[in-house]
Amino acid sequence: MHVLVAFAAWLGLGSLPAPVSAHPLTPRAEDLKAACAALEPQLSNKAAIVYPHDPDWAELLVRGSSPRIYPNYNVVVEVGTEGDVQKTVQVAHEHGIPFLTVSGTHGWTKTLNNLPNGIQINMRRLNTTTVDAGGKTATVGGGTLQYEITRELFAHNKQAVTGLCECVSVIGPLMGGGHSMLQNQHGFSLDNIVSANVVLANGTALTASNTSHADLFWALRGAGHNFAVVTSMKLAIYDITSNWTVYSLIYDQSKLETLLPVINEQDSSPTRPAKLFFTGVWTRVPPIDAKYPIIAYTIGYEGNEAEAAQYVAPFKAVGPISTSVSTDVDYVALYTVTQNNLNSTACRANLNALGAGASLPVWNATVARKAFEVFTKMTADTRFNTSVMLMENYGMQGVTAVNPNSTSLSLDERVYPIVANPTIWWAGNDTRTNADAYAYGEQIRQTWFSGLAKDQTRHTYVNYANGVEGFEQMYGYEPWRTKKLKGLKGAWDPKKTFEYYNPVPAA
Ligand SMILES: Cc1cc2nc3c(=O)[nH]c(=O)nc-3n(C[C@H](O)[C@H](O)[C@H](O)COP(=O)(O)OP(=O)(O)OC[C@H]3O[C@@H](n4cnc5c(N)ncnc54)[C@H](O)[C@@H]3O)c2cc1C
Repeated sequence: MHVLVAFAAWLGLGSLPAPVSAHPLTPRAEDLKAACAALEPQLSNKAAIVYPHDPDWAELLVRGSSPRIYPNYNVVVEVGTEGDVQKTVQVAHEHGIPFLTVSGTHGWTKTLNNLPNGIQINMRRLNTTTVDAGGKTATVGGGTLQYEITRELFAHNKQAVTGLCECVSVIGPLMGGGHSMLQNQHGFSLDNIVSANVVLANGTALTASNTSHADLFWALRGAGHNFAVVTSMKLAIYDITSNWTVYSLIYDQSKLETLLPVINEQDSSPTRPAKLFFTGVWTRVPPIDAKYPIIAYTIGYEGNEAEAAQYVAPFKAVGPISTSVSTDVDYVALYTVTQNNLNSTACRANLNALGAGASLPVWNATVARKAFEVFTKMTADTRFNTSVMLMENYGMQGVTAVNPNSTSLSLDERVYPIVANPTIWWAGNDTRTNADAYAYGEQIRQTWFSGLAKDQTRHTYVNYANGVEGFEQMYGYEPWRTKKLKGLKGAWDPKKTFEYYNPVPAA
């Protein structure tokens, strides 16, 4: 008994659980002990099992969007090879231990908190990027960060389509879409995956592609968090042909109604080049405007300033307070210039962040003003005054060039060109403040949705969901697609092992 109590303590259980657990997957201390004992000799010498009393424990629990997001772990397995992943999943499967795969730590849906104790499979040691023979694809480890792939490929004058923030993994955004500055040229990140080496819930390892387990490959691209652990993947890569020009324009809030029609017009212009992206934020900058948030708008063009100038002219005509331009920005520096680098505000860890994404067909200036009023009120509250409102128009040419039925990704994701997402930041774990943050997020989202026609779907990008959204809101409304997705969930993960990231119900 003494041994079991001690074991329970270092596993973070505090006391022994009841003999029959309330949750079917809640691990019992003796199961965890047996699992760890079975696993240790099977792991490679590149792996480590880390327990709560170990010095590395606290560091391995650091994550984005915390303490709002707090998956319950008893053990961390830092896998060092793809075989380690398979062994860990096999042992977890045999002993009935739940697990959660962690790469960039920036998952921010509260469904992650449903992990009922268990194993963190930490993928960060699988972080290599290798350009394949022929230079058309790269093999990328399942735990690679965008920071790492960008630099590795840049050394070969190549780039891959990932997300935006350097601190986020390659695989996390990809499995739900992957929005980025390259999507107008090459589609979403998931449109660029050629094959994936995965480990299924029962520990089976296989390769999924359009020619191997094609139905699983379909599901991985849009709802991948629900199907397998990706140990490595082949991604399409592209030659870098030019540096970038990036304009930063600051508007005061009075320009909101003038600016939005310009964005709508430029976004959908038939002459818009694929190499052009638009994005912006509402944010508080008291030295510029003590009373209201300002609009900080970014226009990026893969080319020189002389070429870019014509696309910026309509935005200058709106009358910004200031305009600045960064020229000759290489692909690595682009992340810093656009404030998506490791040290950016966006990449802060150990701070609550909450999204409440709304995908939109156009900017509606009337509802934008209402949303702005809510955002103004929220950020006047010192608890939330570092929050921003994302206004993303990265471009849809590459996205709509892909057959929408070729992946499980919601059709809405390929149709709506705009992501409006309040990113609400606050510190601490006060219940009232947490509730206020969710309420503000939902109020802003519903304000955006109020501008939609009755027959337009209410869609939230699955990777910007905070955990309160419905299944169809994230995964789509087409009956054939949702039926197929649920059927594949039942076939590939019948025991719902992967159920902690915006879960797909099994048919
Ligand atoms: C600061 C910030 C910036 C963001 N920027 C972008 C962006 O530019 N573009 C965009 O599209 N989205 C972006 N997002 C959303 C992002 O796509 C999701 O939050 C994503 O889940 C983060 O992945 P991660 O690996 O960093 O986080 P993690 O918390 O490590 O992983 C999230 C989930 O992905 C799954 N997972 C992780 N690794 C694996 C693996 N190897 N195999 C299988 N499943 C795995 C697990 O279910 C895990 O719970 C951003 C979010 C934040 C908070």
